Amino acid sequence: MRLPFFSRAPRPAPPPRILLTNTLSGGKELFIPLKAGQVSLYTCGPTVYNRASIGNLRPYVFSDTLARTLAAAGYRVRRVINITDVGHLVSDADQGEDKMNVGAKREGTTPEAIAERYMRAFIEDLGELDIDTSAILFPRATEYIREQIAMAKTLEEKGFAYRAADGLYFDTSRFAGYGKLGNLAGVELKEGARVAPAAGKRHGADFALWRFAKPGDLQQWDSPWGRGNPGWHIECSAMSRALLGDQLDIHTGGEDHIAIHHNDEIAQSEAASGRAPFVRYWLHNAFLTFEGEKISKSLGNVFYLSDLKERGYHPLALRYFFLQAHYKTPVSFSWSALAAADAALGRLWKAAREVRAESRGKAALSPARDAFLARMRDDLATPAALGVLWEAVKSEDYSPAEKWGLLEDAEAHLGLRLTDPPARAAAAAPEEVRTLVDEREGARARQDWAAADRLRDEIAKRGYRVDDGPAGPVLTEAS
Ligand code: AMP
Ligand code: ZN
Repeated sequence: MRLPFFSRAPRPAPPPRILLTNTLSGGKELFIPLKAGQVSLYTCGPTVYNRASIGNLRPYVFSDTLARTLAAAGYRVRRVINITDVGHLVSDADQGEDKMNVGAKREGTTPEAIAERYMRAFIEDLGELDIDTSAILFPRATEYIREQIAMAKTLEEKGFAYRAADGLYFDTSRFAGYGKLGNLAGVELKEGARVAPAAGKRHGADFALWRFAKPGDLQQWDSPWGRGNPGWHIECSAMSRALLGDQLDIHTGGEDHIAIHHNDEIAQSEAASGRAPFVRYWLHNAFLTFEGEKISKSLGNVFYLSDLKERGYHPLALRYFFLQAHYKTPVSFSWSALAAADAALGRLWKAAREVRAESRGKAALSPARDAFLARMRDDLATPAALGVLWEAVKSEDYSPAEKWGLLEDAEAHLGLRLTDPPARAAAAAPEEVRTLVDEREGARARQDWAAADRLRDEIAKRGYRVDDGPAGPVLTEAS
């Protein structure tokens, strides 16, 4: 006989509790989505006039870890990272030269070619950091000019905009609570700029929605205000609205964007739609510094993911390096710290291979898994979560299946290829080992199988394993 309790459809389990630090309140808050089971997540993307430095990559590892944590908790996550391929001046405060012009002049080509080149490089870098780029929309600002003009027009019609000598400006005095993000309301933003303000600009914090074309501007479009190009902030408001709606669950970016860019996005979006809040949870990552200095293209102390690879590090060593710190903690980059992260990840992969072999890929639940999930759901406490992972993997108290179950969950949240540990590249093996591999190839070519076997043992003694693949020898770190 069936009990009546079971005759009803089972209720879906409530989503697990996730806490996030919201820059709007400054505190940790329980995440509650606008629509049950769904999350819209917008991340400010790069200006594609140059390659993304390793510092520029931190916000995307962070937002990916956030997206993975939400997805693993059962949410369907809609993700957007915009590509700024127009209209961002060298300084945030509407000053300086257009970055796309700078890039085009530097490489003697067009802004379009520059944008294409560096957008591709950016998306490739994300892929190498185990970010599933096929699950993310990457809208380009130049593809949304119409939407940006339409939003600027709405703002003008609603009385939030005025014309100055060089463009159409947002009047921040008309928007109650301007500067609420980061508690900057009332602070005279952009004060103290040594450059004279544009003629006719009414308040220091007012910002361009549309800039009138200047001689030498390579990117220009027609608009109700004449030819020109959009201000930088309007693209995020227009593209997030077009792709995710008037109100978003989560918006992320580097903490440098709080004061100006994100307060300007809030002002434009809320004034245009009449709906607030534009974003329910604002999350910001701290910076990656180099020897205490900010890493930035403009300071010139920049490293790229390709530099790390050239020095023999796996790109995921950078992801591991970022995850060792909480996203709100400033991190100082050094080659020795990266080497330590690379070695730790190598040991984790080795342990994961052992667990995979011992468990035969069978997974079981465990208290360690619960502890790991609790850390991740507490504002992405990745250092503590990695601590739980390491302790459990090394522990005798957990069965191989429990360890494998934990590794599966850790992979779902962290994105380090823990369930599919890559073979350590031969290039990263010591010179001595690579020489032995070459000698063994020679022995095999001579059909001297005894010598080939002896050399295989020599290689094994040095901690590596050589297999004969269809394209030649494959060297992996021995498990
Ligand atoms: P940009 O192309 O300058 O707009 O930067 C793209 C993203 O990277 C933004 O979210 C910035 O806040 C962020 N960012 C830039 N430099 C760093 C850094 N050194 N550390 C962390 N985030 C950064
Ligand atoms: Zn933005």
